Amino acid sequence: MKRYSTQTNDGPRVTFWGAAQSVTGSMHLVEAAGRRILLDCGLVHGKKDEARKRNASFPFAPLSIDAVVLSHAHIDHCGNLPNLVRQGFDGPIYCTPATRDLLAVVLGDSARVKGHAAVAVGATHGNGAASGPPPRLYTRSDADRAVLQCVAVPYEMPHEIAAGIQLRFLDAGHILGSAMAELTVTQSGKVSRILFTGDLGRRGLPFLREPSDVPSSDLLICESTYGGRFHEGMEQTAVKMSEVVRRTLARGGKVLIPAFSLGRTQIVVHYLRCWMRDGLLPQTPIYVDSPLAADIAEVYERYSDVVETAEGPGTPDVTYVRTAEDSKALSESSDPCIVVASGGMCDTGRILTYLRQYIDDPRATIVLVSYQATHSLGAKLLEKGPTVRFHGHVWNKWAEVVELKGFSGHADQKDFMALLGASAGKTRQVRLVHGEPEQAAALAKSLREHGFTDVKAPHLKDTAEVA
Ligand SMILES: [Zn+2]
Repeated sequence: MKRYSTQTNDGPRVTFWGAAQSVTGSMHLVEAAGRRILLDCGLVHGKKDEARKRNASFPFAPLSIDAVVLSHAHIDHCGNLPNLVRQGFDGPIYCTPATRDLLAVVLGDSARVKGHAAVAVGATHGNGAASGPPPRLYTRSDADRAVLQCVAVPYEMPHEIAAGIQLRFLDAGHILGSAMAELTVTQSGKVSRILFTGDLGRRGLPFLREPSDVPSSDLLICESTYGGRFHEGMEQTAVKMSEVVRRTLARGGKVLIPAFSLGRTQIVVHYLRCWMRDGLLPQTPIYVDSPLAADIAEVYERYSDVVETAEGPGTPDVTYVRTAEDSKALSESSDPCIVVASGGMCDTGRILTYLRQYIDDPRATIVLVSYQATHSLGAKLLEKGPTVRFHGHVWNKWAEVVELKGFSGHADQKDFMALLGASAGKTRQVRLVHGEPEQAAALAKSLREHGFTDVKAPHLKDTAEVA
């Protein structure tokens, strides 16, 4: 194993190289016991030029990294792994078995669909004039190599990843396979613990297992996406969804739900089926239009021991739409139905076909179930204005637009306090990542009130030293 060290003190040090004061590009470098361990290696989304630059080159030599510890298979946490491999990283990528299986699907798709333009996610917010297509970030073979470098470590099984560094994964309850990573470091005769939450899930959402309590540590690197928010409960969401479906069907329209293919799509489909099974929603054909979501559904099925099933008398089937022809046929059919289509913020994905077809159809309803970033088409749909502009047209926006916030897969402030509460007074430093500044500030305030003393939201390139 390679040995590189630029440490100045006797304890481990962490440098925050992504998702600092923001929510994408999760990546933190741990230097401990003479090793360099990378926590996550996600893609940065956002302003085109900045994202392209940050995704294309790493702020450290990829060859100098001894190992990667991956929290989960969302693209903003894993999406730049093939590029790390392309640039020379050949060490192990530690993740849970389910994350490894999801990675094979997700990175393959990323290389195919977005590989050449993954850095241009902000296509609708960009302002720089493009001079030809951006260079390909990575290829399918880079993605395949990254998957081959995965070493699966089950939850709760301590695993020595280097002399003096032990890794333990704990269930984060956010998506299938999602994990918190605990590193126990023995260095200069001292033992210290670093705990990285990755993305934390919600309590009381039985689709997946509950997130584990967050154990105490010397340094807690904690996400803060919804650190200042309180989610709507599932019962309330069921009532609202039922009203939406009933009135849309009554006027002969389609219910269109844009959703990210990994995580949100599975939660939405699961609850729609449960509610139809239980008579809360009228029986309605459900389609999922996303080849990626179809592949992901197969992985979820393999892990039926940890994923709740909706099966029972009256549970409707779901039709997965893979081919472009079937997608076109469905978008052109006039039958009332529910379509969950890829593209959570409406900027990319198959939802665009439906929006072009139905945005001016007063019978249709668009149900937004994801976070809508400023400037995204989803955010524009939610604006009060009578029209919306996209794809070079001004549309009348006669379709109904509804926002339902109850399907979130992230912890809210109440969840954070419940999951972290027991470690108050024992955890020495908390560094809040993966959150916009106001969300991180709200969570920091609440944590301090609950007895955490050293709480900060680092900026890009900031470091934290474990004494
Ligand atoms: Zn996530």
